[in-house]
Parts: sequence; structure tokens; C-alpha cells
Amino acid sequence: MIKYSLQCAEGHQFEAWFSNSAAYDAQAKAGQIVCPACGTTDVRKALMAPAVRSSRSREAVARPGPAAEGPAGEAIELMRKLREHVTRNAEYVGPRFADEAMKIHNEEAEQRGIYGEASEREVKLLREEGVEFYPMPVLPEDHN
Ligand SMILES: [Zn+2]
Repeated sequence: MIKYSLQCAEGHQFEAWFSNSAAYDAQAKAGQIVCPACGTTDVRKALMAPAVRSSRSREAVARPGPAAEGPAGEAIELMRKLREHVTRNAEYVGPRFADEAMKIHNEEAEQRGIYGEASEREVKLLREEGVEFYPMPVLPEDHN
């Protein structure tokens, strides 16, 4: 069994169990996955936010699923959605990311989703401290 965090076209998030990822794909294609909040079958796997894990703020916290499944175009589309989701729902803290992430982790700051920049050293430090976060996807147009 595998549990997926799902999100409908209206933005309702919920979780559902599937026997495996193929079962999810089949049910999603057949329109058998229904949002419990609004009844739409326009449901997909929820997008992930590079948020600090916390028992208090589950909203912006999600674990990355198996990344980069399927064709590259689809992966890029997913990453684009992810970035949109993050920039809409999280606070940009710029180079203070490591600081803020640590404070949130230690419950010294408001529990919230944040994103920003961190150096390689800071990333390593955060990992050592057990702070969970995820790299923001880099999109092809970033290099234009
Ligand atoms: Zn819904």
C-alpha cells in the first residue's frame, strides 16, 4: 500500500491509499479519484513545498514523492506548479533561509512555510540538525 497526498483542481488537499503507483495512475485516468470536499475528479498528486517540517503546521509541509516520473515535459510542468505553489504559500526569506528554518525547527519562530537561499554549508548544517527542507526546482527558463 502506498499513501499519496492528493490535491484537486480547487486546491483541496486530502490523502488516499493505493495498492501501488500503477493503481493510482489507473484510477486517476479512469476518473475514479474524487475530491471529498467538492466532488471533482480533477485530482492529482499534491505539490511539495520546501517547508520545514513541524507538527503544528502541516499545511505547507509535504514530502516529495518519487520525483521526475514520466517524460521530462511532465516533470518540468510539475516543477513549475511546485514553484508556483511555494511562492504563493510560503514566505520568501532570502539568504536568511537557514536561520529561519532553524528557528522554526526549534520553535523559536512562527511555524510557517518559507523559502530562500542557503549555501552548501548551511544546507549541510540543516541536514545535520534534522531540519527537513527541499530544494526548489530549477526550471529551464531560469537559464535564459
Ligand atoms: Zn476539491
